[in-house]
Amino acid sequence: MKIEIQGLNMIYSNGNHALKDINLEFGTGMFGLLGPNGAGKSSLMRIIVTLMKPTSGAVFIDGKDIQKHRKELRKMLGYLPQDFRFFTSLKTWEFLDYSGSLAGLRNKKERLSEVDRLLDQVGLLEARDRQANRLSGGMKRRLGIAQALIGKPRIIVVDEPTTGLDPDERIRFRNILSQLSQNDVTIILSTHIVGDISSTCQGMALLNRGELVFSGPPENLIKHAEGHVFKLHLTPYEYEKAKEHYDVISTIPVETGWEVQVVSDEVPEFNSVSIIPNIEDAYVFFMEHKLHADLID
Ligand code: ADP
Repeated sequence: MKIEIQGLNMIYSNGNHALKDINLEFGTGMFGLLGPNGAGKSSLMRIIVTLMKPTSGAVFIDGKDIQKHRKELRKMLGYLPQDFRFFTSLKTWEFLDYSGSLAGLRNKKERLSEVDRLLDQVGLLEARDRQANRLSGGMKRRLGIAQALIGKPRIIVVDEPTTGLDPDERIRFRNILSQLSQNDVTIILSTHIVGDISSTCQGMALLNRGELVFSGPPENLIKHAEGHVFKLHLTPYEYEKAKEHYDVISTIPVETGWEVQVVSDEVPEFNSVSIIPNIEDAYVFFMEHKLHADLID
């Protein structure tokens, strides 16, 4: 499967330019869409799932323009929106059964067996008879993904699935997604949490204020930051000076003052050691340091 996004612009009626000439291409597996709030992630997802038309540009799935093949596309699509809520007193299994009917699963016996298979897959089989709107936050998100999976979609779009989840649930959710991504499906995951973009994402894009800042495998994002992340040992006085001039990523108190990591092209004022960046460092490099440096250029 190939998804191509070409020259996409989204300008809302109030003039908000939420997506600015976005061009992207990716295939089967997990694709992570990362960016701070307001970057344009939800807008892009709503366009991909055909809930919204772009102002200009197009999205192609296996060469077909999604706006011209909406019906066909919706059949192969599962979507977990950011604000997915249950306003229902249905039991967990009943809710999924209902979602299955909406997805076109007509045969009741097959639908019920699919419901139990999915409840098992997302670890909710024991909660099948509980009222859906009384589940914990993490369980609700997992029921949300089960609802997006019913009907065996080939493209799964999940918008900010881990927001508000505790670390255990976040890891659990990520594992469910990475298992799914091995099944020859395309998962598009949007998040503002850098840690959600794990090594399981084959590709990723970084959006900021509607612009595509980076696209490629996460390793490449990290490569760009190599040589730009430094560790310094500073006295409290030096630390105050360093804060004024550098993008500080982390600060750990040590006996002599502070051990500080910064993102910069160079650190001439202080004794520093260049360190291997992780994805969080690379994110800061792109969002804080590189953008500002590019603006100055
Ligand atoms: P993200 O999902 O990354 O937080 P969004 O796509 O929700 O970003 O928002 C991108 C920009 O578009 C923001 O400036 C937001 O305020 C604006 N926006 C989103 N939805 C609407 C809307 N329905 N009408 C007007 N502006 C919107």
